[in-house]
This record gives sequence, structure tokens and C-alpha cells, in this order.
Amino acid sequence: MPESSGNKAKFRVAVCGGGISGLALAAFLSKAEDIAVDVFEVKSEVRTIGAGIAIWQCYWDLLKDTVGLEAKCSAKGIPAPKWEKMEGPTLRRADNPANVYEFFQMDISPMVVPRTMLLESLLEETTGGSCSIHTDKRLIGYSSNEDATVTLSFADGGSAVADLLIGADGVHSQVRETMFRDVPTLAQPVFSGQLATRLKCRAEDLPAEHPAHSRFLIWCGDGRFVTSNMVGEFVQMTAYDHVPVPSNGKFWDDWVKQVSVDTVSQLYTGWDPTLLSLLQASREASQWAIHTVGPLPQFVSGNVALVGDAAHAMTPHIGLGGGQGIHDAFVLSHILTKPSIDRSTLTTALSVYDRVRRPASQRIAQWSLECGLMYGFLLPKKREQPPASLAKEFYMRTDWLRNKNVLDSELELVQNELKKALQAQDECS
Ligand SMILES: Cc1cc2nc3c(=O)[nH]c(=O)nc-3n(C[C@H](O)[C@H](O)[C@H](O)COP(=O)(O)OP(=O)(O)OC[C@H]3O[C@@H](n4cnc5c(N)ncnc54)[C@H](O)[C@@H]3O)c2cc1C
Repeated sequence: MPESSGNKAKFRVAVCGGGISGLALAAFLSKAEDIAVDVFEVKSEVRTIGAGIAIWQCYWDLLKDTVGLEAKCSAKGIPAPKWEKMEGPTLRRADNPANVYEFFQMDISPMVVPRTMLLESLLEETTGGSCSIHTDKRLIGYSSNEDATVTLSFADGGSAVADLLIGADGVHSQVRETMFRDVPTLAQPVFSGQLATRLKCRAEDLPAEHPAHSRFLIWCGDGRFVTSNMVGEFVQMTAYDHVPVPSNGKFWDDWVKQVSVDTVSQLYTGWDPTLLSLLQASREASQWAIHTVGPLPQFVSGNVALVGDAAHAMTPHIGLGGGQGIHDAFVLSHILTKPSIDRSTLTTALSVYDRVRRPASQRIAQWSLECGLMYGFLLPKKREQPPASLAKEFYMRTDWLRNKNVLDSELELVQNELKKALQAQDECS
């Protein structure tokens, strides 16, 4: 391990990937002085592109308490959310200008902040103490050793040894690829059949007859939909299109590419003219082919575990991929910082993480997928159900998003599972 790792540590954790999940884990673990953490990031600095990220109240409150997110945002001029006053997304049927109507309004909304703000807030919490960040380090694989350590190999020819490796390296995870190297269908992400095109326009560039929409809107129609929200002086939009998935499950083009605004706008010819104005006022558009991961049969193998998108990359339709990565990090750090966890109990600790987080995150991924299908009226068994009642059915599942207690009650489950697993380990030894 690089020299920076703490010598007095009871064990050493290597985190591959300095994105939201990896930095959240590093930030949470940094509070424990007896755990050495090394984050290895392929990029030359920890950074992300500047689009906004939606953070639901339960995760906002968690980050407010653990890494001071709210105070850090306030210091940068982003006021604290007033949850009770924030309007949730309104679903609008928009594919027939003669019959545009709103059929549902969600009564909770996430807070949208620039991604850089979230990442910087997490990064600040990792400085000092027992955590080191190493950039320009591309992991190319790992191997488990007889002494129960794991050796990480990097593209620059270097290596590092740790007691635990956490793959937080996103949808293209090299850690996952190594873990499932014999099962390509699990090792590789899968094209979801959805293209997400991000656009934004200045409110002042819109024609007077179609003013900017400061509301959070989801413009729904047959086979596709657009989300729009005001962030600062911009209306930010994501246009989602469903396309057939080739039989080999592979996307045929670049995963991320610039596309022309005209190409996107043309898909919405004949839709609500207000939506067309928003799209046409955009100056550029970038298209993302949404890939997902799993459901994996395990997030853990020996002393290696996956968190965040590496474990369960999902469609973005409820804005929960990042939140779930933070959730993984919170639960895993809670387990690892228990006094009963040391080198001899690490694999037991990971098995409890797997038991708690895998089913929960995979349920969210499925729900997110179905939400996207609902917005595009593509749920096969639900096509006859009135849109308002269908939306209500979906959003009845959102109440937990406003309450951090859900995380606290999950910790009780963790506590019970850990007790049982440690007892079983004792009995076997
Ligand atoms: C269009 C869109 C909109 C979204 N909107 C939201 C939203 O509003 N709210 C929300 O919660 N989520 C949202 N998500 C999901 C969210 O972006 C992801 O779930 C989140 O970024 C995952 O974080 P991560 O840290 O697990 O992975 P990543 O963000 O992918 O980070 C992985 C890190 O690992 C590094 N890395 C990769 N390979 C290696 C390697 N071999 N060696 C070393 N380092 C490596 C990468 O450089 C990167 O820094 C959205 C996703 C999309 C596509």
C-alpha cells in the first residue's frame, strides 16, 4: 500500500473510484481513525461534469448530518431546501397539442444541486486523517492472496495491497469485471433500450408566447418523454427515447455523443408547442445510451465488494442512482466501523452488507425502470389503466424518500444480521 496509509490501522480499505459512491464511503470511513482508506481514481483529478443531481430528502438529511452538505451549499449561495414548499414533478400528457393535460402532481420533490458541489463536499471530508486519494490510477484487475489480503494492479504497472477492496468504479466497473470474469452477462453492463439526451436553454431565449417553466415537469407521450426543471437561469431538460435493444444486448454506437438539437426536436414534432420551444431554444445536446447492471447474484466475493453503479447501475427515472450509492456507502461504513469488525471478521461484515443492500437496491432499480416505462405509456399490462391512477400507484412508494428514519431503521436490521453472522462465524471456528 502507498506510504500514506495509516500504520496503526486495524485494517486497510482500498476504494477503486472517486465518484459519488467511492467518495461517500471514504468520507464516512474517514471518521474512524483506526481504518486506513486509499481511494484510487483513474482521472487526474476528482471531478465530474457540471449537470445538476437530484437528492431526495432522506439522503439530503444524511449528508447534512454527516458531511455538512447543507452548510457547504449555503456558503456557495445555494439556499437550504424548504421541503414543504417544494413542488414535486407534474406529469403532463403532451403528445397531442389538441389534448394537453396534467394528470398527476407528486407532493415531494428532490433538491437539485450541481454535481460538482456534491463531489467537493464529500472530498473535503476525506482530507486529513487516515484517508488518501491517489489520482491517475487505473485499476486493471485484482487478485486475492493466501494471507486474506487483495492485490490491486494498475495500468501504470504499479500495485497496492489492502485487506478489503471496494469497487466504486461505476457502470464500467473493472472490479465487477474481475469478480464475474467467467460470466460475461454479469461482468458487462447491458443497454437498457433508453437514450437520454441532455439539453438546456436560457429562460431569456424563449419566445414570449412560451415562457420558461420554473416548475418541474415531465412531458409524457407514447414511447418517449422529457423532464424539465429550472436550475439557476437555465431550463435543464432530459429527453428520453425508447429504442429496440439488439438481440446481443449491445449498443451499436458511442455511449455518450453530441447530437444536433434539430434531431432531438424532430422527435417531438406534433407535441405540445411549449415543449418544442424549450427544445429548440437549446444550443447543444448530448446523448447518453443508458446502460444498467444486473441484477447481480452477489455484490461481494471474499474480501471484495461492489457499491453504487458498479453494483446496480440503474435507469435515472426517479433520480436515485446516486442516492443508492450513498446508501450503500452509509450501510457499509456503519458495518465496517463496528468494534467487532477487524481483519478476522471482514468477510462476514461484507456478507451482511450484501444481504441488506442487494435486495433493496435491486428493488429500486426495477421500480426506476418501470417508472420510465410508465412515463412513455409502455407498461404492457398497464396500458388500459388511466394515467392518473397508474401514477398514483407508482408514487405511493415514495414516502420513505422524505424521511431519514428509513436509514436508521435499516441500521437495526444490519445490527441483527451482523450479530447472527458473527455468532455463526464463532460457531464454525
Ligand atoms: C442522465 C442521468 C441522470 C441522472 N440523474 C440522477 C439524479 O438526479 N439523482 C441521482 O441520485 N442519480 C442520478 N443519476 C445516477 C447517478 O449519476 C449515478 O448513479 C452515480 O453517478 C453513480 O456514482 P458512482 O460513484 O457509483 O459511479 P460513477 O459516478 O460512475 O463514478 C465512478 C468513478 O470511478 C472511476 N473509475 C472508473 N473506472 C476506474 C478504474 N478502472 N480505476 C480507477 N477508477 C475508475 C471513474 O473515473 C469515476 O470517477 C443519473 C444518471 C444519468 C445517466
